[in-house]
Amino acid sequence: MDLGIKGKRALVCASSKGLGKGCAKALAAAGCELVLNARGAEALEATAAELRDAYGVPVTAVAADITTEEGRAKVLEAAGRIDILVTNAGGPPPGVWSDWSRDDFIKALDANMLTPIALMQALLPGMMERGWGRVVNITSQAVKAPLAPLGLSNSARTGLTGFVAGTSRQIAGSGVTINNLLPGIHDTDRATSLDKGVAEKQGITMDAARKQREATIPAGRYGTAEEFGATCAFICSQHAGFMVGQNVLLDGGGVNTTL
Ligand code: NAP
Repeated sequence: MDLGIKGKRALVCASSKGLGKGCAKALAAAGCELVLNARGAEALEATAAELRDAYGVPVTAVAADITTEEGRAKVLEAAGRIDILVTNAGGPPPGVWSDWSRDDFIKALDANMLTPIALMQALLPGMMERGWGRVVNITSQAVKAPLAPLGLSNSARTGLTGFVAGTSRQIAGSGVTINNLLPGIHDTDRATSLDKGVAEKQGITMDAARKQREATIPAGRYGTAEEFGATCAFICSQHAGFMVGQNVLLDGGGVNTTL
């Protein structure tokens, strides 16, 4: 399917690996120019080169911490005009509700709520002026159903979801859509590190930890970054212009709800 976004300029945050990379890849395949970001320059440059070679699109790589004001300024300066924004950053560490300090919450809010909001505040006005734009925020299944050890994530991402619910409807008339994409368990470094925590805590092997988690997913497996990226690119396409303020869950059926 032609997604109708060839030549659009997309900023994909936190995209040297994992789900962000999956989104960048699918947007490159649709013919978008890319601005990629991550903190580590080496993996970022490797991903940029891989996508340039595979899809022949211009790719700018900006090594910076997107959760800091300086990092965002650096990324936005290099990015210039942006038609498509995919927000993403690392997720907060797991833990226990009684242990989290104010600083832990501020860090999670900065990374997973205030950073995407700041990026939207910076880029939405230009999209609205030009009469076209797409924003996809990578959040989590934790927004639909809480994951107790990920309370920092539950809190911060729910705050972002509230902001998007109101703002997406306020700006929809200008041709700009904002939606959230909610990953369930996907096969990335993040999933491996969560499995590692479970293996250590329960004294089981990594393989057993993974099988245990797979058994909680009706699809019986982890999702892939490619599947995630394809959905992201569709939400960024011309075809999805009527999709506003939605929370799209990609979880192999893991969250047991009717709606
Ligand atoms: P991942 O495989 O660990 O990849 C994270 C990517 O983000 C890397 O490219 C990393 O590069 C970059 N990154 C991390 N922190 C950054 C920062 N502060 N500034 C710029 N770049 C940053 O993670 P993932 O699985 O793709 O997860 C992406 C998001 O989805 C996370 O917020 C995660 O919590 C959420 N999520 C994932 C799953 C899952 O199963 N995978 C499920 C639910 C929610 P550098 O380290 O070099 O910066």
